[in-house]
Amino acid sequence: MNGANRMARILKTIVLCAAAAVAGVLPALADEAVPEAPALRWWKGNIHTHTLWSDGNDFPEMVAEWYRTHDYNFLALSDHNILSEGVKWMKHDEIVRRGGKDALEKCRRRFGDDWVETRGEPETPEFAVRLKPLSEFRALVEERGKFLMIQGEEISDKAEGKPVHLNATNIEKLIVPLGGKTVREAIEGNLRAVEDQAQRTGREILVHLNHPNFGLAITAEDLAEVLSERFFEVYNGHPGVKHLGDADHPGVEALWDIASTIRLGQLKAPPLFGLATDDSHVYHGQAGSRPGRGWIMVRSRFLTPEHLIRAIKAGDYYATSGVTLSDVRYDAELGVLRLAIEPEEGVAYTTQFIGTPVEYDAASEERKDKEGQPIRSTRKYSGDVGRVLATAEGIQPQYQLTGKELYVRAVVTSSKAHADPSYKDQREQAWTQPVGWERHVPREAAGK
Ligand SMILES: [Zn+2]
Ligand SMILES: [Zn+2]
Repeated sequence: MNGANRMARILKTIVLCAAAAVAGVLPALADEAVPEAPALRWWKGNIHTHTLWSDGNDFPEMVAEWYRTHDYNFLALSDHNILSEGVKWMKHDEIVRRGGKDALEKCRRRFGDDWVETRGEPETPEFAVRLKPLSEFRALVEERGKFLMIQGEEISDKAEGKPVHLNATNIEKLIVPLGGKTVREAIEGNLRAVEDQAQRTGREILVHLNHPNFGLAITAEDLAEVLSERFFEVYNGHPGVKHLGDADHPGVEALWDIASTIRLGQLKAPPLFGLATDDSHVYHGQAGSRPGRGWIMVRSRFLTPEHLIRAIKAGDYYATSGVTLSDVRYDAELGVLRLAIEPEEGVAYTTQFIGTPVEYDAASEERKDKEGQPIRSTRKYSGDVGRVLATAEGIQPQYQLTGKELYVRAVVTSSKAHADPSYKDQREQAWTQPVGWERHVPREAAGK
């Protein structure tokens, strides 16, 4: 724009403003001043993470830094039954005992002496470090449209002597575990507590069930029966969570198929959606549950907790341990599920489309023990449950539904070994959400 033009434009704006003022309305902003609404895109995030606030071995701001500098866009710290808020001092000896010998030095190097608060004499048992609340450190790590911190908690409960852990993401207040006589009661009660908080505060809160095979605590039937449970971890990077199950217990992916089949076939309820998380605890290179093994990719316009969670609730996300998808699309009218894989040089991809036939009758497999109770964790299901319906090679796999599937989901397995496996022979994978089930169960049922 030359000088004369600019002057003419300014004059025109003044005249328009004056006219608008006379008319009693505000002038519209010049078009070029209004940025366009952003397009949909994928955001990478982990919503299951531990720090020194509970049993992790690094400072929360350093954990946030790790994720920020490893191309993540959002992170929820989810310590056990505690939020990173209020005043908490931790003995330095305890940090060292957890394997964080250099943690304080690393934090100093990154954030400086002015940032680190200590008390007591170094090298004495009293020497302690103050853990920073999220409200104090988030401004140091967050970047608009690039990296977002979300408040979370791992509600760590117990029932029937088994661990029942649920992650609440974007909560406002701590949720104290409610317990229960049974595993199902504990899941249900804690879910209700989160739902109550969401209602009361008007917040968008995501709650998901963690590592079902940890302590072999949650069976497929538990997952199926608690209908208020909608999300669970199909992959958790902790090496101790029995991802593959054992001789008597199905692996976590099989749990997903069994539970979804019971729900759709018998209970007329929507299937479960799967997430991948790190459940990271150790950050100094030791063996154990290290960061960077599993995450979710969420498609939304804005990097805000509400937009991310709404997209997850709508199923517009996928879980991954390394495979990147540039697109996942289900055309309900044509009944076609299409994936586009972002290829890596020299890597091959195999996609399995998995589902259960409509005619499969789960009730026919009901097995009872001597007391007439359904046999739980050792229960085996026929190969029809979560059957591989088709296999496709290449980077644009697709599946045409026949209408005879209760649901279909896709799992992509790469030829590449996982860079930091949590179990033997792990390959990089991606899991998409079940589709094609709305014809059996209306989507509205999913909102409950
Ligand atoms: Zn846990
Ligand atoms: Zn955890």
